[in-house]
Amino acid sequence: MPHAKLKSIRHLVLDMDGTIYLGRTLFPFTPAFFDCLRRLGIEHTFITNNCSISVDEYLLKLKGMGIEASRDQLYTSALSTLDYLRREMPSVRRLYVLGTPSLAGEFAAAGYSIVAGEEEPEAVVISFDTGLTFERLGKAAWWVRQGKPFIATHPDQTCPTDRPTVLVDCGSICECLHAATGRRPQAVLGKPSPLIVQAVLERHGLQPAELAVVGDRLNTDMALARAAGVTGVLVLSGGTRREDLANAALQPDIVVENVGELGQLLTTAREKAG
Ligand SMILES: [Mg+2]
Repeated sequence: MPHAKLKSIRHLVLDMDGTIYLGRTLFPFTPAFFDCLRRLGIEHTFITNNCSISVDEYLLKLKGMGIEASRDQLYTSALSTLDYLRREMPSVRRLYVLGTPSLAGEFAAAGYSIVAGEEEPEAVVISFDTGLTFERLGKAAWWVRQGKPFIATHPDQTCPTDRPTVLVDCGSICECLHAATGRRPQAVLGKPSPLIVQAVLERHGLQPAELAVVGDRLNTDMALARAAGVTGVLVLSGGTRREDLANAALQPDIVVENVGELGQLLTTAREKAG
């Protein structure tokens, strides 16, 4: 019964693409879903592995679709990486970054200096670099080969697109660096690393039973829920079809057509609890 797990939920960690919108189009059931959460007093945090655009740019994108969100309601793989750096490498200040200018700006705003040219970094951060050049790839490999700590913002090997191209993402760049240097990143942040969920639990003072991850992918969203020990709700409005579930090793706790149906289940669960 899904109601038993939903009864105690006070916070949802929401994937965005495929869950509340597809590409640039908001799903028709999304506004009513947020009304429902407000009515039930259930809070939410948006998460994404795609940190090629910044938190502020995501907030603008959401606003353009009619969704109001504040900075502390958005947690990207870039923020997870910053949290990791602060906790695990507190003395590191100079980074060599393969990422977009927007990502470099977020690290700079957090107090890091982004090195270029021959300047020596204290760590290397690999991300989704849409302006990657041969020279910068080689320089990153050089610093990795010199033994600098090496981390990746997220594991995705490609980024979905409807254009006739393959968007080579962070995971594939790391594979390339592995082939060239023999090293793999010592940490890969973003989904399904449980650090994102742990940060949301800490930020809001929640117990694992009070949080659910909602998303459209088994290998990222549902794997995140499983790794973090929280409820996983799969929506079928994005990248996973019902028939994909038959042979999947990882089964979600709850499967719904879309967040509209989840809103109804949460309402029913509350009524039964009350
Ligand atoms: Mg998604």
